[in-house]
Amino acid sequence: MALPKIPLSCSPKVNQVLECPLVDAVATNLLAPVKTEQQILENSMLEDDPNANCAVAEPQEAVTGPRWGPQHRGAQELANLYSRGKRIQECICVAICLTLMVVNLVFILFHIKMERLSIILAAAFFGIVTADFCSGFVHWAADSWGSVELPIIGKNFLRPFREHHIDPTSITRHDFIETNGDNFMVTIPFLSRMVWDFLVLSEDEVQRKFAWNSYVFLLAIFVAMTNQIHKWSHTYFGLPTWVVFLQEHHVILPRRHHRIHHVAPHETYFCITTGWLNWPLEKLRFWSGLEILIEALTGYKPRADDLKWAGKRK
Ligand SMILES: [Zn+2]
Ligand SMILES: [Zn+2]
Repeated sequence: MALPKIPLSCSPKVNQVLECPLVDAVATNLLAPVKTEQQILENSMLEDDPNANCAVAEPQEAVTGPRWGPQHRGAQELANLYSRGKRIQECICVAICLTLMVVNLVFILFHIKMERLSIILAAAFFGIVTADFCSGFVHWAADSWGSVELPIIGKNFLRPFREHHIDPTSITRHDFIETNGDNFMVTIPFLSRMVWDFLVLSEDEVQRKFAWNSYVFLLAIFVAMTNQIHKWSHTYFGLPTWVVFLQEHHVILPRRHHRIHHVAPHETYFCITTGWLNWPLEKLRFWSGLEILIEALTGYKPRADDLKWAGKRK
């Protein structure tokens, strides 16, 4: 006797998978937009229109003061905390870092072996990915924890993060030194170590460490360039065409992509170098998971200081 044929779509196993609530939940989560168009319009500053404060203005804004922009009292207070001592530190760091980059580039060109190019390129690619992760981690930590009142780091390193959320386009009015000073500073120990390696190691040892040093070099270049790339992501007028090309092809942080971070309360999309890791980290709930853990261990609420500054409107 012939057995009845069961069509594949009616097979109980396939149906079980298709109807599994877990699969449904994962699919819904993966396809859901991180921020809807409505959330972006209602809770972030309309940066491409310099005359507008936000796309959907609050009715009581005339009384409470603007939510964002250079007229926000908290933003003005934070901008005034930029000191002469801080400026000197930034100038020194930019000068040292640029010198180290040039010296290392000369050493790299002198020692490079074309037959190992594929390993070097792979190392360089992972350097860029690491830079994106580091940008996200430092940005998340500075946005979410600590306060401007903390000695030394508060005024010097956390202040720009607070200012940036309430006046996002202020970064476009900062010059090269103010934009890049801190990121250049971070790379100095790593670039110094590389120069040291090139000076003291034998040719064999230099070749053995060459892929590693290519990784460190691209990591350092992209860490150093992060805030410049971030500044471009807030610049809607007069960008060079090659920068717009790199943004539109998502080689560096695109403007539209970074806007998602600027939706209050600024709790996601922290990576600001290429932004490649933002979507996977959000879908893995990486930042919110870390915050739950830290709050459980310490009792501190994430972004308490950020919210305090956002509230100083008038
Ligand atoms: Zn931020
Ligand atoms: Zn930004």
